[in-house]
Amino acid sequence: MGRIPEETIEKIIQSNNIVDVISEFVPLKKTGHNYMGVCPFHNDKGPSLSVSMEKGVYHCFGCGASGNVITFIMKIRNLEYIDAVRYLADRAGITIYDEESVSNENSKEIKLKEKLYKINIDAARFFYSNLFRNKEPYNYLVNRKIDESIIKRFGLGYSLNEWDSLYSYLKKIGYEDELIFISGLVLKSKNNTYYDRFRNRIMFPVFDNKGRIIGFGGRVLDNSKPKYLNSPETPVFHKGTNLYGLNFAVKSGLPGYLIMVEGYMDLISLHQFGITNSVASLGTALTNDQAKLIKRYCKDVFICYDADAAGKAATLRGIEILEENALNVKIVSIPKGKDPDEFLKTFGRVEFDKLIQNSTGSIEYRILKAKDGKNLKDIHEKSQFVKEAATILSKLKNEIDIQIYVSHIYDQTGIDSQAILDEIKKIKRTTNNDKLNYKDNSRNPFEIEPGYKKAERNILRYLVSDIRLYDFIKNKITPNEFITESYKIASDEIFKSLEKGEIPSAQSILAKFENEEDIKDVANIFQNIQVNDNSYRFLDDYIKTIKKYNIELILNDLNIKIKRCEENNQIEESTALTQKLIGLTKQLKML
Ligand SMILES: [Zn+2]
Repeated sequence: MGRIPEETIEKIIQSNNIVDVISEFVPLKKTGHNYMGVCPFHNDKGPSLSVSMEKGVYHCFGCGASGNVITFIMKIRNLEYIDAVRYLADRAGITIYDEESVSNENSKEIKLKEKLYKINIDAARFFYSNLFRNKEPYNYLVNRKIDESIIKRFGLGYSLNEWDSLYSYLKKIGYEDELIFISGLVLKSKNNTYYDRFRNRIMFPVFDNKGRIIGFGGRVLDNSKPKYLNSPETPVFHKGTNLYGLNFAVKSGLPGYLIMVEGYMDLISLHQFGITNSVASLGTALTNDQAKLIKRYCKDVFICYDADAAGKAATLRGIEILEENALNVKIVSIPKGKDPDEFLKTFGRVEFDKLIQNSTGSIEYRILKAKDGKNLKDIHEKSQFVKEAATILSKLKNEIDIQIYVSHIYDQTGIDSQAILDEIKKIKRTTNNDKLNYKDNSRNPFEIEPGYKKAERNILRYLVSDIRLYDFIKNKITPNEFITESYKIASDEIFKSLEKGEIPSAQSILAKFENEEDIKDVANIFQNIQVNDNSYRFLDDYIKTIKKYNIELILNDLNIKIKRCEENNQIEESTALTQKLIGLTKQLKML
């Protein structure tokens, strides 16, 4: 995916009112011009978070957090910039086309995708109408206790037990062979005729998170194989990138967590019982893409897979992938021999809610699974179990948690707690050594802000607080003299607007930045400053600071050049440069 065009980012920022967005996480109260709330980014006692609807920025007077609606989502949801943008685009119902895809070559692809969404809708309608005209599939759903309202909501259908009923229908309503083939709804025989891929199956349209039909799943009515058949890869259907039911979950409003099941029927059952914050991963192995998709909507996930061996393996893999993506994971254990669908239909919602309440943490679950099948009376197997458990616990940061788990393991094995703790320490040490080899790119929190940066920020703050200062400022400094790259870009925009007599728009200036740190710096400009008689004196000082720094930079450069000339016996050049150096040093002194 290429870059998202700036106009799109701006549109996304403008369509997501910052007060509404932040209110979804912390209550805000209007006080004067701004809104105030308790800051979610530090242990805030009083309301320190100020939000300006008009400027589209927030500031915390406690911890200094600052930014726009995108950085707020990045921070609170722990997302990358691009994913925060997508989250907000979805929230506002905006489709993102990146710069590459807007170019000619890819606009063809967009058109093809749109045609595929359309043919899928027509196919789904055909399957849906078949369902009500055929007793067998309809009764099958009735026997599985699926309500008509659910059939409607999920657009369930039936593919006829014929070789070309869908193909002929699609031809009749005007589709070309090529598109029908690309859609994956038909297959090509050896003698180049087309036939329906799905025959005599209950049909599940697969929606993406925006509610478009991207493909189909088909289930047999009896015990024949394969039980489920899915659409092949097409330009709109990619295995492992989507979550079945997510569009419905998002629509009904997420309570902060998602329940993840394996299959179509489980998911539909959960929805029928009113548990709409659920999705199905379809196919047992959860993928990284799916974890990232979940992360756009919530932080906590309950894995609720089948109790069989495949389900257990998928759960362990799922925990790993979800935790790698910084999601909190709990595991819901369905009693043996049942899947969530059967469990709900046998015992009902109340019992299912109890399973959710009694869900296991991921560490506990992993330890349980490490114990599974091991005979703890056998010394070798016992030591194997303790080693595996120690590896699992070595990932924990909280010492108290570790102690609690260790005492559980001691209860089960009789192995001395200290020995287990030593083993954990040993594993921690080796993994930490590995980590030290990675380059640490994070910013040093003790880094002191250079004086010129503070000066730049304050000049711009004054400027946007009172645009009458523009004439005073523009005669003394130009955007080119700004040193910090983000402030240079911002000042350029602000100067341009003011030159045209327009008030600089915080929202559109912030849309130019992708880096969280940059957005924070630039958002800080839009914090009001009181302008009074002293302001001019302050401004003079700030401007001098920047000019001084610029001259120091040139002087540094000159010194290096002069040294090089002297080394190479280039006397003339060196003299000329020295003259320049003297002139600049004088200028610096005058400042
Ligand atoms: Zn704060």
